[in-house]
Amino acid sequence: MKILVINAGSSSLKYQLIDIEEKNVLAKGLCERIGIEGSNLQHTCVAKGLDKIKIEKPMKDHGDAIQMVIDALIDPEYGVISSMDEIGAVGHHVVHGAEEFCDSTIITEAVMKALDKCTPLAPLHNPPNIIGIRACQKIMPNVPMVGVFDTAFHQTMPPKAYMYALPYEFYKEYGIRKYGFHGTSHKYVSQKAVEILGKDAKDLKIVTCHLGNGSSISAVDGGKCVDTSMGFTPLDGVPMGTRTGAMDPAVVTYLISQKGMSAEEVDAVMNKKSGVAGISGVSSDFRDLSKAAKEGNERAQLALDMFTYQVKKDIGAYAAAMGGVDAIVFTAGVGENDASVRAAITEGLEFMGVKIDPEKNQTRGTVDISADDSKVKTLVIPTDEEMMIAIDTKRLVDAQ
Ligand code: ADP
Repeated sequence: MKILVINAGSSSLKYQLIDIEEKNVLAKGLCERIGIEGSNLQHTCVAKGLDKIKIEKPMKDHGDAIQMVIDALIDPEYGVISSMDEIGAVGHHVVHGAEEFCDSTIITEAVMKALDKCTPLAPLHNPPNIIGIRACQKIMPNVPMVGVFDTAFHQTMPPKAYMYALPYEFYKEYGIRKYGFHGTSHKYVSQKAVEILGKDAKDLKIVTCHLGNGSSISAVDGGKCVDTSMGFTPLDGVPMGTRTGAMDPAVVTYLISQKGMSAEEVDAVMNKKSGVAGISGVSSDFRDLSKAAKEGNERAQLALDMFTYQVKKDIGAYAAAMGGVDAIVFTAGVGENDASVRAAITEGLEFMGVKIDPEKNQTRGTVDISADDSKVKTLVIPTDEEMMIAIDTKRLVDAQ
């Protein structure tokens, strides 16, 4: 079965066509500047080994974008299918499923209504996801569609992990609790780790570290997420590219009542001007930070130290929460590529059986970087959220 995976943003739309039996990406691309001047589609036909092409054409809305994607996929030269009928199902990335969705789901009208209920929790992200689904339904009315949520994997957390110690009514009336994000990535790499370790998922305690521009850490016990570092929003947890991560919430009220900042200003600072970029004053990109730190920039080094210290603390906290840890997984842009960050995070964790091999740590791709005598396995596993969406889509379509 060929599955089209769609990740719709407000003015962009990413796609991949995946042959799910072979686990192969046939074609992939991106529509940019939807609804704004300069709309273009960048398409790569992976199956034929062709270079990326760029087609500039006005796209007034997501409907136009989906149509351009289909046209590219069936193009005799750079396409990979002969007609739209070859698309067996569409899997949609959806950011927030709140408590409505604890798994991926076949999209029905009832699901679309439930999705609307989740929108207040992700006002910037869910609406374009919904628009993307509607646009696909219009063009492919008979093709089954599946929604895959960033929050769903974390719905197995127990109340003691997801509740905030606010008045209980805030949870009941406003839905204020920890939801967690990057769930598709944590699910994919934790399942891959189980495969690599060759054991039963139920016998494994895994800490997954998704370290990218946004970062989150999860505790996965017996295949189920039991805790995660992001919270009500993706602002919580470890410091990130430009986001604060967790801090004393009283800083917010202090800035508003004592420093005359508006709620919107504080929100913008915490999301866009903080994190490793805010601390270093150099960049949100870890490559720039490492370079600056090596050249003696103390604030760049401080930003790196703060980041690796908080990730290390979360690994320890989750080992305690699960009563042990069998494997630590690093993934996403920083986790997959930055050996020095991995080394700094795992340094000093020998007391709990974590020891990495400095040479293996320099290797790229899917790799076990543990030292031979390490009790805990440390793995680097490139994440593949699109593949996870395709796998879930196939599972649900088959079960229909
Ligand atoms: P996003 O959260 O936007 O999906 P990614 O997972 O793509 O982010 O990660 C992006 C980050 O990965 C970049 O900001 C950069 O800091 C980091 N990164 C990418 N390649 C490298 C590398 N070779 N060395 C260190 N960091 C890298």
